[in-house]
Parts: sequence; structure tokens; C-alpha cells
Amino acid sequence: MAFKIAIIGRPNVGKSTLFNRLVGKKIALVDDTPGVTRDRRVHAAKLYDLVFDVIDTAGFEDAGAATLQGRMRAQTEIAIKEADLIFFMVDAKAGLTPDDRTFVEIVRRSGKPVVLVANKSEARGAQGGALEAWELGIGEPVQISAEHGQGMPDLRDAVVEALGKEVVFADDEDDADDIAESDVLIGEDIADPDAEDVHAYDETKPLRIAVVGRPNAGKSTLINALIGEERLLTGPEAGITRDSISVDWDWRGRSIKMFDTAGMRRKARVQEKLEKLSVQDGLRAIRFAEIVIIVLDATIPFEKQDLQIADLIIREGRAPVIAFNKWDLIDNPQEALAELREKTERLLPQARGLQAVPMSAETGRGLDKLMDAVMKTHRVWNSRISTGKLNRWLEGILAHHPPPAVAGRRLKVKYITQAKTRPPGFVVSCSRPDAMPQSYVRYLVNNLREAFDMPGVPIRMALRTSD
Ligand code: GDP
Ligand code: GDP
Repeated sequence: MAFKIAIIGRPNVGKSTLFNRLVGKKIALVDDTPGVTRDRRVHAAKLYDLVFDVIDTAGFEDAGAATLQGRMRAQTEIAIKEADLIFFMVDAKAGLTPDDRTFVEIVRRSGKPVVLVANKSEARGAQGGALEAWELGIGEPVQISAEHGQGMPDLRDAVVEALGKEVVFADDEDDADDIAESDVLIGEDIADPDAEDVHAYDETKPLRIAVVGRPNAGKSTLINALIGEERLLTGPEAGITRDSISVDWDWRGRSIKMFDTAGMRRKARVQEKLEKLSVQDGLRAIRFAEIVIIVLDATIPFEKQDLQIADLIIREGRAPVIAFNKWDLIDNPQEALAELREKTERLLPQARGLQAVPMSAETGRGLDKLMDAVMKTHRVWNSRISTGKLNRWLEGILAHHPPPAVAGRRLKVKYITQAKTRPPGFVVSCSRPDAMPQSYVRYLVNNLREAFDMPGVPIRMALRTSD
């Protein structure tokens, strides 16, 4: 017999969207044909090789109390009771809300196995929300996009892990046919650097770079200097291949994928829409990349736009490296560099220790140093620190600088673990996450950055309740 899954969560997190994806239109229609006597509140569903039933909470609408809250609660409780497994869904784009905490309590009390699903993970800023979901204390969030079909393989694995022997695989031939169909419904993961689950730093994988900056900062000159102008213009040839958005090349034996700004520009020029395109292109470039080189014209001080783009890169969870270009025009290089670096630290405290390299795209000086900085930052962005090391570090911190008392009660910090890489994300388990001052979290992040030598990359930290 198939096992039953209930999708639980506050309104609008995307439950119906996932329901439809799992059930598929065709199967839902079949249920409506006369003569089919299956219980209409449960719908046959598939996820790759798994077959199960999904409980349709929308079918319980008349079951509960007068208020929406009451009805929701009643629906939720009935569905949970019937289910063998619960998908507890949160909206990673919106982050946690008090309603999420109310619903998770109902789920927790039920004692049923639960998979935490962080939906809308394709959205900008969703990384933070997914990390925050750890705070619910029901395990690791599986990041998906119900709408775009991303993360479905992880969801499948999480079901198998949660249910163990109870899981039902479709292994007879009839079912196998259906699976092929449902695979189409589930859809393919679209290309996304975050979709690759990287557990160890892999130097053989191409490093993805984009170059951004204000007009005239020297982006094209830099890209050409790095790749070689002729090769860029003539397209595929020895050592270089080009797809629609990127160029593959090699820097001192390290394979690189570069966002093809030049190609985009050529197209833009044809369409005479360069200015209009540039903002969107910048965003696309950032999302494509792991490391984003921000090219600044060193003869013009930081402008608001430069800071905005750096901030966007950091918020998107990518790591910036700054190129102070046109250094050949600078009179007092040492003084200028000290001043620019001081400014960088002051204006961009979100990514302390940002690599900032003086260079000249025109003369080629500093290109090596720039690429070294890119590689170093990429390595840091991929850092993974063992739970043992982290907790030894935490012990030291707690001994010397424990969290403050709030309303006369000391906050207890129990342990820390790294939840993700690219960029590094940590979860700290503590007695009262809500009461923890932001200043203490910042202190932890800064200290962690120094202790484990992680300059220049965004570091995320989420608090979760310790049980
Ligand atoms: P429910 O109330 O929990 O059943 O949520 P719905 O499935 O009705 O979705 C609520 C809204 O979120 C709708 O506008 C959906 O289009 C949107 N949505 C659902 N899944 C995703 C997703 O993966 N990404 C984004 N960006 N939006 C989504
Ligand atoms: P983009 O708009 O950011 O792509 O900038 P370009 O690469 O087109 O460069 C804008 C102008 O700056 C051009 O006239 C370049 O020759 C010049 N330029 C680029 N890099 C350097 C450099 O390192 N030194 C000097 N002196 N000029 C540069």
C-alpha cells in the first residue's frame, strides 16, 4: 500500500503548487472519471521512482471552525493524522513568520516523520530564508522551487531517508511507464550554480566568473586581456568553447567559465539597446557566477553604484573581488592603495577582508594577482569546517565573551555546525534565538571569519532553538 504525504504550511508558501507538481494534471483528471472509486481526498503521486498518495488539504475546507485560522488548523490536524510523512513547507523567499512557528508546533506534537521543505528557493535572497529554516528545529531544509521544478531529486532522497523501509518504489512495469510521464511533469533542474551540491572543493570543475562595473571602467579591456581578444571574437577554437552565455578557457591550467559580457554586448549593439540591457545583464551575470570581479576605474572614487553592485553580489551569496583598474594612471600608488583599501573595508563591512587588487587591463600588470585573488576567494567561498573544530572554537568564545543576559536570564549557546558552503552558512543552536542580540551574532560572524581565515566572502549564520 502506498504511503501518504501531507503538505503542511501557512497559506501562500506554495503547497498547492507542489501538490500539482507531484500529482500531475493527468493523474488528477483520471481521479475525476466516473467509476473511479478511490478516496478523493488522496491523490496518487510520484516522485521519480517513489509512488505515494498526497493528501489534498483543500478538500477539508468545511471541516473546521468559523475563522480562517481555525479552519486551517483543523485541516492541518486532520491531514497530519492521516499522513505517514509530512512535508512541512516554508517560503524561503519570505523567511520565517510567526505563523510558520505556530504550524510547526502542530507538526512537532504529532510525532510524525517530517521533511522540512524550503520552497521558492530559486528566488533572490532565498538562501538566507532557507538557512533561517533551521531555526524550526526539525532538521535540514530541502531547498526546492515547486514552481520551477528545482530540487526534486533532493526531495526524493529526503523522503527515502525519512521513511526508511516504509517507502514504496514503483518497480512493476506499469508503474515504470507512469514514472517516465511524471518525470516530465517534475521537470528538469535549470542551470544554477547553487544546484550543484559541492561537498569538497573540486579544482577540476570550471570556476565561474563574471565581470561587472560601471560603463568605461574597463570591463571589455580586462576580459580581452584575460582571454585574448582575437580568440574571443573568433569563437570556438582550440582551448576555447562558447555557449550562449559563457566562454570556457584556462588560466594557468585552471579551467574557467566566464560570463560572456562581450557576446551580450555585441548582441545588444545590434539591437541598439545597450543601456537598457545593462542592469539586467549585470544581474544575470551575478547569478551565473561564483566569483564576481567588480572593475572600478581607480581614478574615480567609489560611487554609490559600485557599492550597490557589491552589496547585491553579497546578498546573492556570491563573492566579490575588486579590481582597481587603470592603475597605470595613478601617481601615488602606495598612498592611493592604502586609501582605497581602507575605504573598501569601511564601505563594505558585510564581506570583511575583501580582496582588492590594483591592476591595469591595458598594460596587463596585476592580472596575475587579480586571478590569484579570484582563486583564493573561491576557495574560501567553498570552505567547509568540521563540526569538531567549530565547537572547540565556540567553547573558547563562550569562555571569554559569552552572550549577554536578556531580562535577567543568560542566553545559552549550545553548539554550532556548518549547514552549507558556497557561501559558508552556519547554524548555531541556542536557548532563545529570538532574544539573541544581532550585535552578538555579528560578533560571532566576525570572529569566525578571523579564526578560520575566511576573508571577503559572505558568511551566513542562523540561530535555531536547542531542544
Ligand atoms: P499555498 O497557499 O501554500 O497552497 O500556495 P500556492 O501554491 O497557492 O502558492 C502561493 C504563491 O506562491 C503563488 O503565487 C505561486 O505561484 C507562488 N509559488 C509557488 N511555488 C513557488 C516557487 O517555487 N517559487 C516562487 N517564486 N513562487 C512560487
Ligand atoms: P567598459 O565599458 O567597462 O567595458 O570599458 P572599456 O574596456 O571599453 O574601457 C573604457 C576605456 O578605458 C577605454 O578607452 C580603454 O582603453 C580604457 N582603459 C581600460 N583599461 C585601462 C587601463 O588599465 N588603463 C588605462 N589607462 N585605460 C584603460
